[in-house]
Amino acid sequence: VFRNKLEFFASAKISTSFPAPVLPEIAFAGRSNVGKSSLMNALTRQWGVVRTSDKPGHTQTINFFRLASKMCMVDLPGYGFAYAKEEVKDSWEELVKEYVSTRDGLQRVCLLIDTKWGMKTRDHELVELMERSKTPYQVVLTKTDIVFPIDVARRAMQIQQDLKTMKSKIDPVMMVSSKTGAGIGSLRTVLSKLARF
Ligand code: GDP
Repeated sequence: VFRNKLEFFASAKISTSFPAPVLPEIAFAGRSNVGKSSLMNALTRQWGVVRTSDKPGHTQTINFFRLASKMCMVDLPGYGFAYAKEEVKDSWEELVKEYVSTRDGLQRVCLLIDTKWGMKTRDHELVELMERSKTPYQVVLTKTDIVFPIDVARRAMQIQQDLKTMKSKIDPVMMVSSKTGAGIGSLRTVLSKLARF
């Protein structure tokens, strides 16, 4: 499925402008700078289609990309800017929460966590919400190339442990580096199974 051309087709600032949920959707969520655009580009091997739009001052929108008529990849706005204005922060967090908890056709949320920093409050909040709304999600550790392999493994174990205390029955944490390509193939395999054939 990831060999298909990736095409931007919709963006939404409010839930009423979400496109009709006609394709299976995979969404990508995480703190700003976690490596979300890099990962979406690496999965599809199509650079430049998904741009980093999470920089402060930019409008926060949910962006929808399709892979032919097989799957839709959804770029959720990054959260956790310490210096964003409160009201801006609230509005995009509400949007992400609404999307994640109510979207029809949503097959999986990839929750990206920076290997170096681990899970923060906002990540936990999102996990709690997804648990409550029974949204299937997958934790993906990003930028594994910047720490020692032993620390990647430790981080993965720590998160797995953390999530267990929240009584979640989640899939094992996946580990990727968009820079070296490590783990990208495995994630592609997992996500491909969710596409329409
Ligand atoms: P986004 O804000 O979550 O979309 O993050 P980006 O994909 O724009 O990446 C944020 C920064 O992290 C950029 O400077 C990227 O070059 C860097 N980055 C992204 N993925 C990786 C990775 O796998 N390894 C390393 N070392 N850096 C990465």
